[in-house]
Amino acid sequence: MRPNRTKWLIFVFLFVVIIVAGLWVMLDQYSHAPAPIIPIAAVRENPTHTVIGKSVQGRDIDAYTYTSVQISTSSPARASATSVESSLSNINGDSGQNSDSPKHLLFVGGIHGGYEWNSVILAYTFMDYLKVNPDFVPTNFTITVIPSVNPDAVFMVVGKEGRFTSEDVSTSTKVLARARFNADSVDLNRNFDCKWQPKSTWQSKTVSAGTSAFSEPEAKALRDYVATFQPEAVVFWHSQSNAVYASQCKGGILPVTLDIMNAYAKASKYPAVKTFDAYVTTGAADDWLASIGIPAITVELSSHNTIEWARNLEGIRALLKYFGETTM
Ligand SMILES: [Zn+2]
Repeated sequence: MRPNRTKWLIFVFLFVVIIVAGLWVMLDQYSHAPAPIIPIAAVRENPTHTVIGKSVQGRDIDAYTYTSVQISTSSPARASATSVESSLSNINGDSGQNSDSPKHLLFVGGIHGGYEWNSVILAYTFMDYLKVNPDFVPTNFTITVIPSVNPDAVFMVVGKEGRFTSEDVSTSTKVLARARFNADSVDLNRNFDCKWQPKSTWQSKTVSAGTSAFSEPEAKALRDYVATFQPEAVVFWHSQSNAVYASQCKGGILPVTLDIMNAYAKASKYPAVKTFDAYVTTGAADDWLASIGIPAITVELSSHNTIEWARNLEGIRALLKYFGETTM
């Protein structure tokens, strides 16, 4: 072989090696390029506000839904996609019953309106906490807060719409007692479809339970919300019996209800009480949930003017832990 031809072949060989190596480096870099940016923030903005119905006097009954903002560090792209799917399935109302769909916990304040205004402030306090601590909602959980399911009766004692503080609350015991009921003078926590009767009891008094189960728009709103989203469990905040109660209709206490009553009570240090037996109640919202197979507890604060936030936060944490550890 002539020397010139050898030099030429070496030159071509090196040229090819350089081109191939260059291409390899470029492709390798490309394969490690950051994933395209998906506008996750748009679907994960917390909370999602929905009006679930209107009160007798036409006030909005608001629900605020929070989804997880946590992203798995092991596989960001997959986690992002899952979050998007979860958020979309929430928006589409598909809470689903399979293990991949988010576990939806619902917290309801103010069913007894202005008389138990502190339960509404407790709900607002939880919402404020979620705003400051967006990562509180674990991956694969959805939390909804309905701060006041009886807004007309809250208006009756605070004299204003929307957010209020304890400073706004009437000091008249007559006004406060009247504000237990909705604008039809119905005790909403006697208007649900479990052992419903037209007249029911509150302490030693006879109260109206409506003209039929779900005769009241506020009870209907909660019924329809639950039917659409099928929450994993529901917590009602009331005052002032200082206890956590289980719920039951004709089929007895659901096993999960018993578990979450004990979990919340232990963490928040309220006594756990399986059965409310101070007087006979009919048409209670939590008991109706038991009748349709949804675990529900009633948390009664210890007074009508405290929110006991630190204790209730521990109760909420205990529920998240319980549902995080239990495969449903
Ligand atoms: Zn109550």
